[in-house]
Amino acid sequence: MKVLVINCGSSSLKYQVIDSESEHVLAKGLCERIGIDGRMTYQPAGKDKIKYDAPMPAHRQAVELVLKQLTDPDNGILTSVDEIDAVGHRMVHGGEKFACSTLLTDEVLKTVESFNDLAPLHNPPTLVGVAACKELMPDTPMVGVFDTAFHQTMPPEAYIYGLPYEYYEKYGVRRYGFHGTSHRYVSLRAAEILGKKPEDLKIVVCHLGNGSSLSAVDGGKSVDTSMGLTPLEGLVMGTRSGDIDPSCIEFIAHKENLSLEQVMEIVNKKSGVLGISGISSDFRDLDEAARSGNARAALALKIFCHSVVKYIGSSIAVMNGVDAIVFTAGIGENDDVIRSAIMDHFGYLNIRLDDEANKMHGQERIISTDDSSVKVICIPTNEELMICRDTVEIVTKKMVEDAVKEIMANQ
Ligand code: AMP
Repeated sequence: MKVLVINCGSSSLKYQVIDSESEHVLAKGLCERIGIDGRMTYQPAGKDKIKYDAPMPAHRQAVELVLKQLTDPDNGILTSVDEIDAVGHRMVHGGEKFACSTLLTDEVLKTVESFNDLAPLHNPPTLVGVAACKELMPDTPMVGVFDTAFHQTMPPEAYIYGLPYEYYEKYGVRRYGFHGTSHRYVSLRAAEILGKKPEDLKIVVCHLGNGSSLSAVDGGKSVDTSMGLTPLEGLVMGTRSGDIDPSCIEFIAHKENLSLEQVMEIVNKKSGVLGISGISSDFRDLDEAARSGNARAALALKIFCHSVVKYIGSSIAVMNGVDAIVFTAGIGENDDVIRSAIMDHFGYLNIRLDDEANKMHGQERIISTDDSSVKVICIPTNEELMICRDTVEIVTKKMVEDAVKEIMANQ
């Protein structure tokens, strides 16, 4: 099958076409500045990246352009849009309704829309993207793969907050967790690398990127994670504060004469390592600044590592043990100095990094020593491939069910 994988943001749309048999990416790209002016990036496999400006007043035009580009007679990879067998959409918030990926029927989309309150920044753009694809490819099956789904296996003691229970019952206020597609891909891949069944492993997954989260994956199931009702909770991130005393919000609002919305904007967009360092949210900038003596950049990096260390420790405690610790996403895959600073704290468990193996960027590799009590592994994440696999599984199941129904009806 040829699967178009779509990941919509409020003003962007990332896309890949994947051949599900070979799992090769046939083409990929990005539409940016949707609703502003519009910029298209397109790269067919093995060829140079093409970039050009094109008007994209809304997501519909962005999807139109993607399809036009994919079928372009000169550098397209499809002869017709009909060659796309299915579309897999990255969805953010599936509430408690979606513990796995699902066909995006009208009923499902209505349910997803009912969670817009829980993810006001993330859910509406994904729904707009799905609507645009449905309009332009009405006969192509669409599948939704939710960021929250993998964490639906958490037990209540991990997801219920210490708040009046009625808020959970009335409004669904609880820990949901995010980056689930990445945590699932990486934990499955870790089991493959170790030659073991996921059911036999306790894994801590550290997804460290601009947004960062940790998960404790016991027997292939997420049993705890650092993000919460929204992706703001947990680790100190690029621009998000992560865990703070909720009283800070009221205190800052009073002192600075700011509204609740203004303080929420600060804790989401101006905090984290950006807020601490005052320089950048990008770890490459911070590494460089810290090396040239910038004390606040060095402090921001230390605080980040401290928060990761605390969550790894608590994940190990929650699982009552650990077999593997996995690093993924921009920082996890690339920053050997950060990986090393974090793992230095686990010598007491006889977990040891191999300094030579750790000195690399973006490779899949075991980076612990042979005698380390726990395997430490670096695995580049691949959410798109996971979305493609789920899409194929669900569409194939539906095709089989439809065929059986037809046979039964004709009997
Ligand atoms: P992601 O959100 O997974 O795309 O990760 C993006 C972040 O990864 C960037 O903001 C950087 O902080 C970090 N990053 C990417 N490449 C490197 C690198 N070579 N060294 C350190 N950090 C990196």
